[in-house]
Amino acid sequence: MKTDGTVGGDWLEHPGTQTLMQALEGAGHIALFVGGCVRNALLGEPVGDVDISTDATPETVSDIAEAAGFKPVPTGIDHGTVTVVVQGKPHEVTTFRRDVETDGRRAVVAFSSRIEEDAQRRDFTMNALYADRHGRVIDPLGGLPDLQARRVRFVGDAETRIREDYLRILRFFRFHAAYGDPDGGIDTEGLAACAAFAPGLQAISRERITAELRKLLSARDPAPSVAAMAQSGVLSVILPGADPRALAPLVHLDAAEPPRWLRRLSVVGGDTDRLRLSKAEARDLAALRSALGSLDTPAALGWHLGTALATDAVLARAACFETPPPPGWTAEIRRGAQARFPVTAADLMPDLQGEALGTRLKSLEAQWLATNLTATREALLKGT
Ligand code: ATP
Ligand code: MG
Repeated sequence: MKTDGTVGGDWLEHPGTQTLMQALEGAGHIALFVGGCVRNALLGEPVGDVDISTDATPETVSDIAEAAGFKPVPTGIDHGTVTVVVQGKPHEVTTFRRDVETDGRRAVVAFSSRIEEDAQRRDFTMNALYADRHGRVIDPLGGLPDLQARRVRFVGDAETRIREDYLRILRFFRFHAAYGDPDGGIDTEGLAACAAFAPGLQAISRERITAELRKLLSARDPAPSVAAMAQSGVLSVILPGADPRALAPLVHLDAAEPPRWLRRLSVVGGDTDRLRLSKAEARDLAALRSALGSLDTPAALGWHLGTALATDAVLARAACFETPPPPGWTAEIRRGAQARFPVTAADLMPDLQGEALGTRLKSLEAQWLATNLTATREALLKGT
């Protein structure tokens, strides 16, 4: 980790970003980078979106951005967020805030001119780090030692912070999976508070829960976090009936593959009624779960599901049954994905028509799959 009190990188030096920061400062305001960009830059991890914190009100931010020739979009006006797109790059500019009222789901916020107040309402100390446009790090709450120790720690009292927003329970496990020290273990005070208030997650919308779970399961190794979620009773609130045991073996097997969250979700199992999956995600998850219970060969899975999902299915099955994937499985999946079923409707017509034709084609396809996609057209037709 960088320890000289500065951050840098293309994201910070981006000319559009610098122009926006200077426009805010030129109008007499504070403008600071905050959250993920500062945290990741310090850790040497890739920086995704750039969040900027300012003492200017959203109206003022919009005026300043417009005067500088940029297009401000009021994306979260209740929360004081204006998105400013500069040279194609979006920046979320949010006015310093303090919470006025919270009910565990949403907060009524008031704007503030003090960075300390803004830092106090953030979730974890490692997420309450700021940097000015020169890259000088500002640490109002002493988050740097926690970041250095890779310790995900709530800002202030963990129980109080969770009761303000129960989603923070999932964020705790998500940030631990992404940035926590795998050997140091999870923060015990935070974990105890998550366990105590796990049922509160029922009040959180399915969209917010799913967004966090998606990110958590996309981490390089979410297994220790998910195991801790199971032990603390959090997992069964969002995924009733889930079992985390196959996740660690899966992570071990899928280290060489890009992490795919649905693959991980398929081995954890559980009822997904409390999630909001997209149509494509729900379809893929159903296909994976059915593949997990089938004896289809890798080639047959490639034929049914295509390369990416079949890869997920073979890895997930290996993890669940604690057997390594069969030799040559990746080539077999590719062979299946590229195979062409050798019989066509024309081969069976005019003897068969309509429904009977469809039924026969299906049964021939099943026979072909039973030969691991090797039977020829002639062999299949001879049997009819
Ligand atoms: P990444 O975008 O890489 O996942 P991030 O830290 O930018 O990580 P976001 O969800 O984009 O995470 O949130 C941006 C910042 O806003 C966080 O770093 C944190 O300071 C604050 N924040 C977000 N959600 C909450 C919340 N539920 N409670 C308190 N603070 C939050
Ligand atoms: Mg972010």
